[in-house]
Amino acid sequence: MSATAAYSTWREPARDLPVIGHPDVLVVGAGSAGIAAALASSRRGAQTWLVERLSHVGGLAGFGLINLLLSLDDGDGRQVVAGICQEFVDALDALGAARHPSRSDWGSEDPGAVEQWRKWGLIWGAPPESVRYSVAFEPESFINVAYDLLEAHGVQLRLHTGCAATHTTDGRIEAVVVESKAGRQVIMPTLVIDTTGDGDVFTYAGATAEAVAIHPHQWFRMGGVTGLDGDEPMAGGIFFRTTDPGRVLVPWGGPGFAPSRINPVDPVELTRAEVECRRGVMAEVARLREQAPGFGEAWLDDITKQLGITESRRLVGDYVLEKNDGDRRFADSVARTGHWTRRGVVYDIPYRCLTTPAVSNLLTAGRCISTSRYVHQATKEIPAAMATGEAAGAAAVAALDVGAQVHAVDVEALRLDLAAAGAMVGGEPVPGM
Ligand SMILES: Cc1cc2nc3c(=O)[nH]c(=O)nc-3n(C[C@H](O)[C@H](O)[C@H](O)COP(=O)(O)OP(=O)(O)OC[C@H]3O[C@@H](n4cnc5c(N)ncnc54)[C@H](O)[C@@H]3O)c2cc1C
Repeated sequence: MSATAAYSTWREPARDLPVIGHPDVLVVGAGSAGIAAALASSRRGAQTWLVERLSHVGGLAGFGLINLLLSLDDGDGRQVVAGICQEFVDALDALGAARHPSRSDWGSEDPGAVEQWRKWGLIWGAPPESVRYSVAFEPESFINVAYDLLEAHGVQLRLHTGCAATHTTDGRIEAVVVESKAGRQVIMPTLVIDTTGDGDVFTYAGATAEAVAIHPHQWFRMGGVTGLDGDEPMAGGIFFRTTDPGRVLVPWGGPGFAPSRINPVDPVELTRAEVECRRGVMAEVARLREQAPGFGEAWLDDITKQLGITESRRLVGDYVLEKNDGDRRFADSVARTGHWTRRGVVYDIPYRCLTTPAVSNLLTAGRCISTSRYVHQATKEIPAAMATGEAAGAAAVAALDVGAQVHAVDVEALRLDLAAAGAMVGGEPVPGM
């Protein structure tokens, strides 16, 4: 028996950690929600830091290869998400790095138009289907747009830096411990926004959360596919056109494909999933080459660099948005979203879904906000994640003026501020907008 076998815990010696910054607002996690949160905060004049554990921003929307914005509309032709998400669409359009139906087609049930956009992965749900305001985009460009905007608006970005712990006093996060090649360091922000997707920060800070085991996905792209431009439906597998000629996006994974459900915050299960999913991807690549028309000479372009985790920890916050809240108008709504598979359903997202009773200076945005599992299907989507990110960034700055108490924010003023910046906040119409 090894001499260390008797140990099941190890007492880490106490030591002083270097404090590397005191930003007004610290955003943890630079996926689509974190990018929007940092931009919204910095644009309002707050000294804003954005930390990200990986080597790039974008999260699932970037090299997670979830390169479809589903959806910015309600399924019946009305736009319900705008603001920073729309700004990204405009920037991607200018680069030729996005494809989406024109406004005049949103809500159309014309079968030809529906079939055309189905090939881009923009049509989901039960008949009668309509053309949605959804967007296929190119991930490198999404990341480039993000870097340009973050730099232009003065966000201090630190990549390769993961949040490892928080220290909380009297229900307020005082210190955020980060880990990188520089070791363990501390950031002491006034306000914190958790956009980790997994709710790491609110978990470390002691907030209540829910989580379920899920089947992972591992999307990938193939190049050199021929015959994509014709009118025939794509055959031989499930794949979508992309903005690059001859390149397709394959949405591999989920029940029936990925080997088993995993706990998405357990590194052992994540490791197993990475290895097993990769084997599944390679088998699907071989099958497509053999069986799918146009794939004979195709090659594997890339596999997602972030395992596809549809849901992880969800905050149980000051309000939990439920299925029955579809189409309910909330006075404290700060964002809204449609549903990518259901037409005519619009959720207002109350400010209270971003806050927790456990911590006074913490906001949450993106896929880990406080909703039921059912509603999470809608609020997890990238446009909704960007909308809640934008709301959290603006709210954090508003909280700076009220003693860093997120529960003391004047939500009506916040709604006005967001609407003036171009966001769609839901609730009753905002005066003057
Ligand atoms: C298989 C699949 C298919 C999907 N399909 C679509 C679709 O077609 N259209 C659509 O709109 N949405 C889709 N979604 C949902 C959508 O992609 C995500 O829910 C959305 O991108 C979440 O954004 P986020 O910023 O909240 O989280 P993420 O994109 O996960 O970003 C979180 C970021 O935080 C970082 N991070 C995590 N922990 C830490 C830490 N401790 N310290 C520092 N950084 C940390 C991560 O590295 C990551 O960059 C899909 C999701 C999956 C998994």
